[in-house]
This record gives sequence, C-alpha cells and structure tokens, in this order.
Amino acid sequence: MTIKAFSKQLLAWYQVYHRKLPWRETNNAYFIWVSEIILQQTRVEQGLGYYKRFLSHFPDVQSLADASEDEVLHVWQGLGYYSRARNMQFAARQVVHDFQGMIPETYEGLMRLKGVGSYTAAAIASIAFGVPCAVLDGNVYRFLARYFGIADATDTSKGKTVFETLANKILPKAEPGAFNQAMMEFGALVCTPLKPACETCIFLSTCYAYKHDLVQQLPVKIKKVQVRKRFLNFLVYQDANGMTILEKRTGKDIWHGLYQFPLIESATDDFELEATHHQVFVSAPQIHQLTHQTLIARFGHIYTEKLPEKQNTVVLSIEQLKEFPLPRLISRYIETHSELFPGY
Ligand code: SF4
Repeated sequence: MTIKAFSKQLLAWYQVYHRKLPWRETNNAYFIWVSEIILQQTRVEQGLGYYKRFLSHFPDVQSLADASEDEVLHVWQGLGYYSRARNMQFAARQVVHDFQGMIPETYEGLMRLKGVGSYTAAAIASIAFGVPCAVLDGNVYRFLARYFGIADATDTSKGKTVFETLANKILPKAEPGAFNQAMMEFGALVCTPLKPACETCIFLSTCYAYKHDLVQQLPVKIKKVQVRKRFLNFLVYQDANGMTILEKRTGKDIWHGLYQFPLIESATDDFELEATHHQVFVSAPQIHQLTHQTLIARFGHIYTEKLPEKQNTVVLSIEQLKEFPLPRLISRYIETHSELFPGY
C-alpha cells in the first residue's frame, strides 16, 4: 500500500469511528493543551471529568495564570502527577508575560513553555494550528512498530529517531491534526497493546507484524521500570475542638505543593505510636500504586489536648480538610474512614 493510500484509509476510518470527545471538536489551543496534559498519564474516561472541571474553573489562559497554586492543585486533586498542573500554571504565566497572552503557534515556541515536551508541542501545533509535525505517543509507537515491522526499541534515542522520521514521512502535510489524532485513536481502539483487533483491522492485508506473526513481539522496549516501595506513616492529630494539622509538601518528590498529615517516612513497615498520648490508633496499611512507586501508608490517629507546633504546618478544622489540595491516597482514606473524621 502506498503512503498516500495508507493515510487516506486511516483518515476515512477516523471520520467514522473516533470517539466524540470535546477536545476533538475544537481548534482552541488552550483547550487542546489542557486535554493533552491531562491525558498524558490518565485514561480518557477519567480525564474527561477533569477536563470539564478544569475548564469550568479556568476557562482561559489568563484565569489559569491568575489562580493561586492551591486552587489549581485542588481542582487537579485525585489526578496524580501534580507537576503537570504546576507546570501548566507556570506556562500560563509565561504565555501572559512573554507572549502577550497568545499561545505560541509554532512547535519551537510551544517547546519554550514549561511542561510542554515534544509530544505536547507537536499535538498542539498540529491540531490547533495545522503545523505539519508528527505526534508520537505510546499508541502511535505501537501501531507504527507493528504495521511497518520496526524492531528498534521505542525507549532508546536511536529508536525514537527512527520512529520520528517515519511518522513525519507518512504525515499528510495538508491534514496533520486529523492524521495525528487518527494515528493515536487507531492505536487506542484497534491496534491495542494486548488484544489488537487484527481480524477486523482495515490494514490486516498489509500489516507486517500480522503477516510475520510478530504482533505480540512488537513494539520492543528494553528498559524495565523499577518499582520502589515506600512506607509512609501519617500522623493525624485531633484535639478536643476537632482541630488537626496539615503540612505542605516541599522539595523534589511526589505531591510537591500538596498538603498531608505530618509524615514520618521509614525504611520498613514497622510503624508504632508511643502510648504517651491520650489515645492512639494506627490504621491498617493503605496501598497506593504509582507508576514507579508502591506506597504503603499507615495513618496514626493521635487524640491530644494540645496540637504540636511544627514548622510549615497549618492548623485547621476537620471540615476544612476539603479546602486543601490533598493527595488522592489521603483524601480516599478520609472518605472511606469518615467515622474518624467527624464533620468532614
Ligand atoms: S493487523 Fe493487527 S497488528 Fe496490524 S495494524 Fe491491524 S490491529 Fe495492528
């Protein structure tokens, strides 16, 4: 099949079968940017609600630039990878101050924005501004590797160059946005990781991997993701007036800028509370899986007459916990243990 026939067939498929999602029905660069950042680490079903919520709070670049970091993190709460939200807000301020409030229309200009990497820059440039640059996400790598039979590893710089060159070669210059979206959608809906729908695939007769029985072997990845275990022990203080304390996370780590109950991190799962307090109670372990980390958290409830004075903390009522951006691990614990948080 010629490259022209390939793209024609793919675009025709996309017209009929693509999921009708709000960011597909717009050329608004800000909306596309928000959707791309959310969808980087989040499934479409979950991302959709956040997309709407985010835009109802921050309908344009200016409102995002003007918001406080706490407000942005609060709207993002539960989505994880909070640096995405922080970077996007930083970038919104860059747009306001360095680009007169206009989102840059070129790939290079977009790359100057914090948190915008080559994938996001190519997506915004091609979809919002019609710039002919190919987008490569996991779906595109997989589809390309299988259809064209490419055995270069997708997570090496040499492999990346091979895929990038090919993706740009097959990109129709007149319709880069639709084609990029079609490539991603085809990988997400048809040429899926575990059970691709080969039997009904429109490319069955010309697919290299199908012909050579390599569908399960492609794409190739060489690096194994290391998963690290962490033991997090949170101290939930409560005094007789129903007040508690939270501390703000700083430093280069997960959940930067979010709030948590004071934390003691330990190397092993051996959290105990000294019985010097009036009443103490330690929860069962709560497991929370991140891509590269397994978090094993325990919540130690301490009922005390006087809350400890710690640096970098805020004193608040249990009810006010709702007003602070909390990691999903903590907000879920509160929601599922409401009897321990009267007034929440
Ligand atoms: S035939 Fe199978 S492996 Fe090949 S492109 Fe179609 S879905 Fe993917």
